[in-house]
Amino acid sequence: MLDFTELTYKDDTWELFARDFLRERGFFIESPPDRGPDGGKDLLVTEQLSGNLNKYRFRWLVSCKHYATRGASVSEKDEPNILERLSSFKADGFIGFYSTLASSGLNNRLNSLRNEKKIKDYAIFDHKMIENLLVTVGYSHLLMRYFPKSYEIVKPLHLVSDKYEPLTCKKCGKDLLMALFKSNYNANICCAYKWDSEKNINYIQDVYCCCKLECDHALETADSRAGLMTDWNDISDLVIPIEFLRYIFATINRMREGRDIYTDEAFKKNKMILAALAQKVLRATTKEERERHKELSSLPF
Ligand SMILES: [Zn+2]
Repeated sequence: MLDFTELTYKDDTWELFARDFLRERGFFIESPPDRGPDGGKDLLVTEQLSGNLNKYRFRWLVSCKHYATRGASVSEKDEPNILERLSSFKADGFIGFYSTLASSGLNNRLNSLRNEKKIKDYAIFDHKMIENLLVTVGYSHLLMRYFPKSYEIVKPLHLVSDKYEPLTCKKCGKDLLMALFKSNYNANICCAYKWDSEKNINYIQDVYCCCKLECDHALETADSRAGLMTDWNDISDLVIPIEFLRYIFATINRMREGRDIYTDEAFKKNKMILAALAQKVLRATTKEERERHKELSSLPF
């Protein structure tokens, strides 16, 4: 999904990205990217850990390696003298921040250092893990800054309100917005209604999302048993900006013409679905816009 070769090998870009990424993950950056004469030191970061009684600081030495262009994993040879490096910076643990993978040899080495209690802990942020985190909500600004081409393809999720709202399948509970990163045209928004054929009015009882095939089939069968008809729209179509707008216009037009009458619950659910979809459709909100929104929402009407 993400092309890590987009980040140049030069100018410490990978280290700067690691710094911004880890800051976003809640780490405190102690030292800026700086390649020491031994080439070993990249970043020092700390985090507050909570024990049962106390909070304490845990210091990590972060080794950044950007091997995406050559496509090689990071081996034990690429990470020499781990113990010496940790002790010279008084670090408690080791983080490998890699645009490829850690070799199994390096993983084994770190694992045995931890098992032998020579290091307190280690963590590897490899390309898959970084990618999985970057496409989730809250990182789109990093994606835009460091991976502009991939950003166009990935279309990350943006926070619209203060917290992420998943779009869950009514049947199995899967988050259908997150699922869009893996595949398209696999989920629907459905509307279950009673049709008054004489007046040509749809009395909408429920609006919900679901996976296609099994979940959709089970829900449609249940609707049909309850005497309801079902209409559906493809979620992959509705996240196309103009189609999102067309869906909203069609919904309000039908309400204005008196053709659709919603129960309170169905109306509320339709709005919640639109708000969740907006996280995929709308562009990212800047900090200033968020502040302005707060100001406007506090004004009395
Ligand atoms: Zn499902």
